[in-house]
Amino acid sequence: MKAFEAVQHYFHLAADQLEMDAPLRKLLVTPEREVTVQIPVEMDDGRLETLIGYRVQHNSARGPMKGGLRYHHEVNLDEVRGLASLMTWKTAIANLPYGGAKGGVTVNSREISHREKERITRKFVDAIHMVIGPDVDIPAPDMGTGHEEMAWIMNQYAKYNGFNPGVVTGKPVEHYGIPGREEATGRGVGMLTVKTLGRLGHKVGKSTVAIQGFGNVGSHAAKFLAEADAKIVAISDHTVALYNKEGINVMEAVRYARKNNGLLRGFSEAEEIGGEALLELKVDVLIPAAVGGVITSANAASIHAPLVVEAANGPVTPEADEILHEKGVAVLPDVLANAGGVTVSYFEWVQNRQHYKWSLDRVRGELDRLLIAAFEEVWDKHSELNVSLRTAAFMIGIERVARAAKLAGLA
Ligand code: GLU
Repeated sequence: MKAFEAVQHYFHLAADQLEMDAPLRKLLVTPEREVTVQIPVEMDDGRLETLIGYRVQHNSARGPMKGGLRYHHEVNLDEVRGLASLMTWKTAIANLPYGGAKGGVTVNSREISHREKERITRKFVDAIHMVIGPDVDIPAPDMGTGHEEMAWIMNQYAKYNGFNPGVVTGKPVEHYGIPGREEATGRGVGMLTVKTLGRLGHKVGKSTVAIQGFGNVGSHAAKFLAEADAKIVAISDHTVALYNKEGINVMEAVRYARKNNGLLRGFSEAEEIGGEALLELKVDVLIPAAVGGVITSANAASIHAPLVVEAANGPVTPEADEILHEKGVAVLPDVLANAGGVTVSYFEWVQNRQHYKWSLDRVRGELDRLLIAAFEEVWDKHSELNVSLRTAAFMIGIERVARAAKLAGLA
């Protein structure tokens, strides 16, 4: 199942529970606007390269549309559409005053230089500046992008529309950004993992955890969970998967990766295992924090962890979700598990509009408060109606968006 179809599948499971009629469903799944643009860029060797960029604006019923920008060689319109719709449900579940959008450029972010990345980013803004804006659509980091790209976006946007730091979030902390944005997604993943373990009757201190992906999300989730006394027994990135049954020293691994171009390859304090083997380890928690579609009908039956926390967007396919459900594996869905990132993006945007600086303590405190509130609501619906956590989350999100559409006179 392709990305957009997968999100629609989850949407319909929840819409069935809500007994929603077909015309309203059609309104809520259909993206408001899709933009595909040409990005002609001069590479460092003088060659002209023409890339393709996308911005899909899925729904604005609850506020300006919000979502990251992904630089990855597999980016395509269908994937961006799926991710944009996921943002609509995610912002609604977290109860942020936003709609959902997503963008991307089909390019391998590891194969381009810093200068090429800057030129691509500025050219992309040249092509989409008229459809984004602080009250319209606010991009943010995602796979392959970070605070530098966001600073370039702010600067390039200003050339057309005047200076306004609220046009983009995830900016450098000292340049209109907010402390705690970088750790936010991982912190939320860690905190909600602890919450879920508690509800399932497990002690965090005795729990073993395997994490796939050691980028911004995976490494911060690992740090948070290690600090909460969980035992991180396996970590991986696209170069290597590592296992140590006594527990991996996460801070050592973070320091190692920092010195090694962000990569874990060569980190010697654990044994090397296969990437697929990591997913199938006998651990208490499995956290896919890399790309989408890694737990599929081919390996779902071999997943041993009783809890899967979706730190990445869409790591479990609908077919696999069904198999995990039958096996009694709990899945904390992406729309809740990784909502910490967009929540702190919201704080950054509020800060930019208020011209008032938030402290790290305030960011963490408000993040924890909002995520815990969202978690409690989802958990209550899940227990009350005996539906999966994902369906419960989607039901809450869909109801909020549908209500806003009705109040606005759209439906
Ligand atoms: N890209 C992140 C996500 O998938 C963050 C989006 C944002 O901060 O707007 O949720």
